[in-house]
Amino acid sequence: MNFYLLTERDWMRGTDFPDTVFFTNDHVTLGDAPRCPVCNRYCEGMEWLPPYQIELEMFTNRFGDVIVGTGLDLIVDESFKIAFEKTDLTGLEIIGEAEVERIICRRKARKKLIGPIPKYYVARMKYGCAAIDHEKSGSAFEPGKKPICDYCRLGRIGAYRKIVIDESTWDGTDIFMARGIGGQITTSQRFKDWWDSCNFTNCKLIPSEEAHWFHDAGMSPEEKAYKMEHGWDAPWPPEEN
Ligand SMILES: [Zn+2]
Repeated sequence: MNFYLLTERDWMRGTDFPDTVFFTNDHVTLGDAPRCPVCNRYCEGMEWLPPYQIELEMFTNRFGDVIVGTGLDLIVDESFKIAFEKTDLTGLEIIGEAEVERIICRRKARKKLIGPIPKYYVARMKYGCAAIDHEKSGSAFEPGKKPICDYCRLGRIGAYRKIVIDESTWDGTDIFMARGIGGQITTSQRFKDWWDSCNFTNCKLIPSEEAHWFHDAGMSPEEKAYKMEHGWDAPWPPEEN
């Protein structure tokens, strides 16, 4: 079974800026965060409550169709909403209209923006629906921060070599936030096939097995180079034989 990640920039190479990113403003209203039904820990960010006021940051002069938001929310335009509602794909619900309060233009966007501001909506994903297989993903955790709950599988991840979904935990939902790997929007093959038949801008789908991540904050260049070669959890400084 193939799974894909919805992403708006190629964060593995640090290139390929999106056209548009969004922020909530500082008077945003937040509700409760979803909790794990087994261990009761917080699993995702707090729920965004209406009014859905957004600020857009433009890196080109073209408004994006699909914008990755925060927590369980995506910002989508009318073309996505209409196309998605014609499918029988599951996992995403349009919960309201987003109101663009402010637009900040960077770089190329200083040239004239193309067209009027699109009508945007907030689309909320389901949480859960499948969990990451940490072993097959090659996840390494910070000391003492391994997952202790087999449902949410939350730990403080230092690195993973790929993202492998534990198929035995998947309920068939087409787009969702997987358990155990915060902030990654996961989609099914069915979603990918539909996505490929549309031409949505600003986001792309990458095979989940191509995703990898390495938390190098606070490491010296020597330590980072060593751990890239020997694995994130290799002891540093190296033990002498
Ligand atoms: Zn849990």
